[in-house]
Parts: sequence; structure tokens; C-alpha cells
Amino acid sequence: MDLAIKGRKAIVCAASKGLGRACAFALAREGVDLVINARTAGPLEATAEEIRRETGVDVVSVACDITTEEGRNAVLKACPAPDILVNNAGGPPPGDFRDWEEEAWNKALNANMLTPIFLIKAVVDGMMERKFGRIINITSAAVKAPIAVLGLSNGARTGLTGFVAGLARETVASNVTINGLLPGPFDTDRLKVTFQGAADKTGQTIEQVREQRRLGNPAQRFGDPEEFGATCAFLCSDKAGFLNGQNILLDGGAFPGTL
Ligand code: NAP
Repeated sequence: MDLAIKGRKAIVCAASKGLGRACAFALAREGVDLVINARTAGPLEATAEEIRRETGVDVVSVACDITTEEGRNAVLKACPAPDILVNNAGGPPPGDFRDWEEEAWNKALNANMLTPIFLIKAVVDGMMERKFGRIINITSAAVKAPIAVLGLSNGARTGLTGFVAGLARETVASNVTINGLLPGPFDTDRLKVTFQGAADKTGQTIEQVREQRRLGNPAQRFGDPEEFGATCAFLCSDKAGFLNGQNILLDGGAFPGTL
């Protein structure tokens, strides 16, 4: 299928590794020029170079913290009028809500709710004027099925999801869609951190935790980031203009509901 987005411009946040990187690659394979971001310059530029070499698209790498105003401004300066925005950032740490003071909540809300909202605010009107826009928020399966130890993530990401649910109904008439992509367990560095947390808590080895989680998924495996990237590219495609305000769960069927 030709996704018909060749020559479009995308900002992909938090994209040197993992799911953001997979989204950047998938878009580049469709001929989309990119501005990609992460905090650490070395791995970010390495990813940018790999994408350029494989796909031939233009890739600008902007090393900064996307959860800061300066970081967002630097990314927007490199791409002031994107056709596609993929919002992403690191996830908040696990823990017990009794230990979280205002600072911990502010940090999570800033990274996983307000940062995507500020980026959307900066680009959405231009997208509507140009009559094309695709906005993807990478959130978490925890939006649909909360994970108790990830309370900061459950709260912040569900806040973002609620906000964009309203906005998406106002933008779609101008061919600007806003959708959430909800990862279940994907084989990335983030998953290793989560497993280490569970291992520390239960006294199991990280391998035991990993095997237990793998067998607990109906697919008997973890997601491949490439599968995530491919779904992102489709949602960003010209063909997906009627797919709006949705939250697409990629979890191998782990969520036990019929709908
Ligand atoms: P990952 O493999 O650890 O990659 C995270 C990427 O984000 C890296 O490129 C990292 O680079 C960048 N990053 C982190 N904080 C940033 C910041 N403040 N500003 C700019 N870039 C930043 O993680 P992932 O698995 O792709 O996860 C992506 C998101 O999906 C996270 O929010 C995670 O919580 C969520 N999620 C993942 C899973 C899963 O199974 N993988 C499941 C549910 C939810 P630098 O460190 O250099 O900045």
C-alpha cells in the first residue's frame, strides 16, 4: 500500500531508541523527512545517520530534553511547520503513591501530559490551515488497563488522552487527526528497566521476570518495535484521515476485554 506521505515532514520526539526510533524509521521508509530528538547527542546522531543511509530522506537531529521549553523550542525551530507530530518521552518511574510528593507528580505531568499538549498547541493550527496533519501520542497500555506501580504514568497519560479526545473532534474536519498508540510490552530498554524493578521487588532474577511476562502474554512474546513503527506510519498516512480520536492498543491481546 502506498501511504502517500512521501515528502511530508515529521517531528518524532524521543527517537534515538526504542519505539520513537521505530516510528522514525517507518516514516522515513515512506519518504518522510524527519526532525528527531533525544537528550543524548551520540546515539541520536547515530540513529539519524542510519536512517539517512537506509532511506535517503533528510534527517535533522536535535539533542535536547523535550520536556523543557527550550527543548521544545529547539525542535520547533528545526521544523516549524510539520505535517506529522509523534509525541513521545521517557516514562515516569514506578513506585508507591505514598512516596510521591508534588515534585514527582509535576515531573510526570510535565513529561507525559503537558509536553505533548504544548507541542500540539504549537503546530495544530498550521496543520489545520494546510489541511493535513497527523498527530500521534505514544502513551501506554496502562491508559486502558492501569498498572498500580505505574501510578504516575496512569495519571499523566490518561490526562493527555482525555484532553486530546476533545480536541481531535475539532481538528478532523481540517484533515488533522489525533490518535494514541498504546504500547503493551515491547522489547526495548524501557522494558528492561521495568523488569529490573519487578526483579528487585520480588527477589526473582531479571530472566525469571522476563520469562514469566513473556509466557503471560497471549502471543507468548514481546512486541517488536518495528511492528509499532509500522502502525504509526499507517496512522500518519494519507489513507488514515477518517481514523481519529482513537487509542490503538498493541499488546498481543493481553487486555482481556472483548472490545
Ligand atoms: P526506550 O527504549 O527507553 O527509549 C526512550 C527514548 O526516549 C530514548 O531515545 C531516549 O533518549 C528518549 N528520551 C527519554 N526521555 C527524553 C526526554 N526527556 N527528551 C527527549 N528524549 C527523551 O523507551 P521505549 O520503550 O521506546 O518507550 C517509549 C515510551 O513508551 C516511554 O514513555 C515508555 O514509558 C512508553 N511505554 C513503553 C513500553 C514498552 O514496553 N517498551 C510499554 C508501555 C509504555 P535519551 O535518554 O538520550 O533522551
